[in-house]
Amino acid sequence: MSRDIYGELGVRKIINAAGTYTSVGGSRMSERTIEAMGEAARSHVVIKELQAKAHERLAELTRNESAFVTNGAACALHVTGAAAIARHYARPHASLTPDQIAKCEIIIHRAHRNPYDWSLRLLGAKLVEIGFPNTILPTIAEDLELAITENTAAIYYFFMPQGGWMPQGALSFEETLDVAKRRGLPVIVDAAAQLPPKENLWRLTGLGASACIFSGGKDLRGPQASGLVVGKRDFMDWLGKTAFPTYGVGRMFKLGREEIVGLLSAVEEYVAQAETTRNAWCEEQIKKLQEAFGGGVLSIERLFPNEAGQPMAAAVAKVGATNVSFVLKRLIEGDPAVYSAPWGNDGLLINPMTLRDDEFSVITARLKEIEKELPHR
Ligand SMILES: *Cc1c(COP(=O)(O)O)cnc(C)c1O
Repeated sequence: MSRDIYGELGVRKIINAAGTYTSVGGSRMSERTIEAMGEAARSHVVIKELQAKAHERLAELTRNESAFVTNGAACALHVTGAAAIARHYARPHASLTPDQIAKCEIIIHRAHRNPYDWSLRLLGAKLVEIGFPNTILPTIAEDLELAITENTAAIYYFFMPQGGWMPQGALSFEETLDVAKRRGLPVIVDAAAQLPPKENLWRLTGLGASACIFSGGKDLRGPQASGLVVGKRDFMDWLGKTAFPTYGVGRMFKLGREEIVGLLSAVEEYVAQAETTRNAWCEEQIKKLQEAFGGGVLSIERLFPNEAGQPMAAAVAKVGATNVSFVLKRLIEGDPAVYSAPWGNDGLLINPMTLRDDEFSVITARLKEIEKELPHR
């Protein structure tokens, strides 16, 4: 406990004011979850037995037929896609030839293309794009219908409510599910950052998605290298046959007993928490920030929904477009170092999601110092 591992390496500890950004370690696990991971590390278990019990418990907690722990949402997207291909041929994924895989098609909205869809591109299947990432000609159900062929293995859907960074133009989630249901196709949902609200753990599959993917290392506050897939039993059985510890693509995405136990512990806490209390705390912190900065160069604006479209408020420190990179640099180079990210043209995020009470006063003090260095607007 007394060992300062980061200090020994000369690595700075930072305050993360940006949100659950993977580049700074996403979120922080609770002490209870850290302890659970330590406990898990001390003993051997039969992994498949642990998976069976933990997945059953996760399915119960998230009100789903089935659940599966992976080592990240991006990995979950890949193995879930592979499971859809296996399901399409009704054969184990590892038994398929590259030609068979290449023939398979996964439908994706152009509005839903994003850097995480590498997980799908790497499958070796064909991505069939529909619609446009704007609203001049919004996607209609017929566009999806016409894209479906005998080779379609799945429809991918990127779920992010308005206010997040996704462009408009895609078919609604409900209409997509409607077409998929009529055509007997699975819908795989990337909802990696769509917690809160915790209802999303059961709402999206409740509406009819076959599999819905969440990052364990974001607001769930599980291990950084964990992901959660929840879904319908018939589809998820194919995931079980494709993902770790199965040899094939699943074997590349190894995860330890520590992650399985850690994510379970985090989900237990997540479903039990009172979101209204947390939101009230969040609003209070933002109000305090607004009161601390008035009349000067820097002002605080409330951002709702937050940067990921989540129904939780964040603050944006408006510093003026020409000052953003200077302020970010001063923050991260300072002591203590504060990490933030740009928002809009002229601001940077102060996101309560990853902050503790005591860290707000540190950030306020640092910003006050830096504010003095800014040219008057
Ligand atoms: C963060 C994120 C992922 C990746 O999640 P990891 O758990 O870090 O692998 C995938 N998709 C979206 C939309 C995300 O925001």
